[in-house]
Amino acid sequence: TKHFPVRRRLRGLLSRTRLTVHAVDDVDLTLRRGRVTALVGESGSGKSTVARLLAQLQPLTAGTVRLHGTPVTVRGGRPFRAYVRRVQMIFQDPFASLNPVHTVRYHLTRALRVHGNAGRSSADLEAALAGLLDRVSLTPAERYLDKFPHELSGGQRQRVAIARALGADPEVLLADEPVSMLDVSIRLGVLNLLRDLKERLRLAVLYITHDIASARYFADETLVMYAGRLVEGGDSETVTQHPAHPYTRLLIESAPDPDRITGATRAGDGERGGGEPPSLIRPPAGCRFHPRCPAAMPRCGTDLPPRLAVGDRPGHWAACWLYDPAEATS
Ligand code: SF4
Ligand code: MG
Repeated sequence: TKHFPVRRRLRGLLSRTRLTVHAVDDVDLTLRRGRVTALVGESGSGKSTVARLLAQLQPLTAGTVRLHGTPVTVRGGRPFRAYVRRVQMIFQDPFASLNPVHTVRYHLTRALRVHGNAGRSSADLEAALAGLLDRVSLTPAERYLDKFPHELSGGQRQRVAIARALGADPEVLLADEPVSMLDVSIRLGVLNLLRDLKERLRLAVLYITHDIASARYFADETLVMYAGRLVEGGDSETVTQHPAHPYTRLLIESAPDPDRITGATRAGDGERGGGEPPSLIRPPAGCRFHPRCPAAMPRCGTDLPPRLAVGDRPGHWAACWLYDPAEATS
């Protein structure tokens, strides 16, 4: 759970009332090695905040992050250091995440050194650098090592950012919209690379996206987030082909082209049909989707739906009263 305090401007004056943004509430998820988990939702749904909480870039308001069952509590303590090494993040904009005045060699060397993976000799270092670039299919290494970020294409920059993350020898990659700023023609290549790395290095990957069609293509498991809460989860095939939650159905209906992984452009992110996501300062009571939901019942406006099993596909759930067994019999 993550709540941010904010102050609201009232007629130009800073109000004294402290308001709270309920950015993430009770999000419970498990990443597993060798598995891609997609976290899908509109912009403003809290999915990037989930990534930052998992990366320990921000403290939680409530709850716990665990690695192999060990809670990561004290910042700077030993579990914390082990954790930040094992859990690496890839950002949406590789141009912003790479320093323009430094070469590929500098970025990768630094990552290797910080995490103690640079070896002892300069030959070790060169081998490690070549190994990293080989893993992201930038070969031969000499062609790329002394280039600056602006000398690379967007796809090559994102590959360098991925190589840098791999320099820590991570178990978990948190990828926040890793292809949404890339040309459509090269998105598939980067997603295929991530999928390949997941297999070869047995990485646990969290793939954050607003493009549910790409989740079907790329992720093993899909979780759908709405207004700070998870609303549906299951294996990707089930969630995308047999969506249960009315919000997931809306996402799929409004996806521009479900057969391609192009998804919405940045401009289209957030422009979904059927109304707007609610304010997270005063989120709706009960089910947060009820003001937009075509199937809303009276209890939806007051009672928060728990995770309920859907159909006969194991692991498929929705936080929606439609799947309350009592609803079927009443
Ligand atoms: Fe719609 Fe009610 Fe289900 Fe929420 S709980 S998605 S309002 S039917
Ligand atoms: Mg985001």
